[in-house]
Amino acid sequence: MHPPFDADLLLQQPPRLLCDEMLKGLARWLRAAGYDVKMEPDGTADRRLVERAAMERRLLLTRDRTLLEIRGAPRVVVLLNGNCIDECAGELTHILNIDWLYRPFSRCLLCNTPLIEIDKPFGFPPHTEHLCICPTCDKYYWRGGHVERMSRRLKSWQASPLITIAQGKRS
Ligand SMILES: [Zn+2]
Repeated sequence: MHPPFDADLLLQQPPRLLCDEMLKGLARWLRAAGYDVKMEPDGTADRRLVERAAMERRLLLTRDRTLLEIRGAPRVVVLLNGNCIDECAGELTHILNIDWLYRPFSRCLLCNTPLIEIDKPFGFPPHTEHLCICPTCDKYYWRGGHVERMSRRLKSWQASPLITIAQGKRS
């Protein structure tokens, strides 16, 4: 069984999230789907993560069951059991009703900032389409092979989420 979440946080649509450092990969995919997902610097104490989540009204995603022992954690922690990104994605579809095609590629994968669509600056290849920039880290994003590949995986999660993990089975 899942711990009793803070009902408000669970109902918040779209959910605002915080990932612990073991779920960096998942955080990038959630950002790719358009969700607001924060990360704290590596090595941040668990207690600090829980406080941060409560303060910013975010759900804290983790695979670390010991986090639940921290005071206040059961209200903000979403415990995942998946052993790979596909399994974790499937769990999130069920627990939080994540829409993997919510707003694809609307946020910076590195820093979570919403992207801004810009005109192509001089020097970009002519076939570059839908060029966006992250105003925080100045990284460019455009529709290309990498985005297309990521897009296919998001679509596959949306179409048939992998459900192989029974909640609460692992101790
Ligand atoms: Zn950025």
